[in-house]
Amino acid sequence: MRNLITGGAGFLGSHLVDRLMQAGEEVICLDNYFTGRKANIRNWIGHPNFELIRHDVTEPIKLEVDRIWHLACPASPIHYQFNPIKTAKTSFLGTYNMLGLARRVGARFLLASTSEVYGDPEVHPQPESYRGCVNTTGIRSCYDEGKRIAETLCFDYQRMHETEIRVMRIFNTYGPRMLPDDGRVVSNFIVQALRGKPLTLYGDGNQTRSFCYVDDLVEGMIRLMNGDKIGPINIGNPNEFTIRQLAELVRDQINPNLELINKPLPQDDPLQRQPMIELARQELGWEPKIPLAEGLQPTIDWFRKALAKKAE
Ligand code: NAD
Ligand code: UDP
Repeated sequence: MRNLITGGAGFLGSHLVDRLMQAGEEVICLDNYFTGRKANIRNWIGHPNFELIRHDVTEPIKLEVDRIWHLACPASPIHYQFNPIKTAKTSFLGTYNMLGLARRVGARFLLASTSEVYGDPEVHPQPESYRGCVNTTGIRSCYDEGKRIAETLCFDYQRMHETEIRVMRIFNTYGPRMLPDDGRVVSNFIVQALRGKPLTLYGDGNQTRSFCYVDDLVEGMIRLMNGDKIGPINIGNPNEFTIRQLAELVRDQINPNLELINKPLPQDDPLQRQPMIELARQELGWEPKIPLAEGLQPTIDWFRKALAKKAE
């Protein structure tokens, strides 16, 4: 299989590169390095099955591939809000260009969509049939609405051109290779704790998220691509935690003496989030295997090394 992975130098993309390369497949990794790092895919540079292309998905590209895994898009709020117009362009034009490529070469196309399509959900936990509660004008809209139109484009390409699509709604995922400064809650808490700093709870810390370890997530992504169900399908870990519980868990694994402090809650921050994964269980035979306390260990170890390297 010739695979194109857009956003392949990023957090999730680079783990997917590893899995496909280990399976002996051909991989073209395409990235503009906005939030991705060459270091994430360094092991494969020079391998005969691997190619690296610096390219921005807002521009078209011609390649011969069998499968397109479309992950290119900044995912953490501070990165997608850095240039929100660019984020919307990446979601719309990027998905449009990559679907155009899929159509031209007859490739199967998987979109990395997100639980953010549910916005600040009034239905809990969230089934795929829930249509969401997204603010169209807020600071998260560039990302949330971007992913919603990206899903729409997939289904219209399927209806109009019979493009083979797969749509995956990814819930909060964590693991090695998250950026230390990406502002996401898992990376923030681990980095704060490793630096002996207080852990910052935004709001009262009672908002919830459900955290999936990256290896589980990538397994779900591969099953979706290989199977015959098109989705949209939730892939995430249904174990729900308050942000305060997460802070306590991280603190207890690193330094139980650290303080938890409160900071203002960002605008439109969803109050609760938990995937319903019945569809993934039934249609993909998938469910996550790695509990949060267990997945935090390799993640903390990775950040410890990354911070030590940075300090050198
Ligand atoms: P990431 O920021 O680590 O990876 C995104 C990658 O895309 C980076 O390598 C970045 O440089 C690249 N990129 C961004 N804009 C680009 C452009 N215009 N052209 C080419 N490359 C571009 O984020 P991630 O956590 O690995 O997320 C990957 C995908 O999964 C994203 O589409 C994101 O929306 C989706 N997702 C992730 C999560 C999560 O918890 N990590 C949750 C829901 C959805
Ligand atoms: N959060 C927090 N402290 C931090 C970073 C984030 O309390 O240092 C909260 C944030 O307000 C949100 C949750 O943790 O309620 C998850 O934030 P993240 O940015 O990781 O993901 P998203 O909000 O996109 O799910």
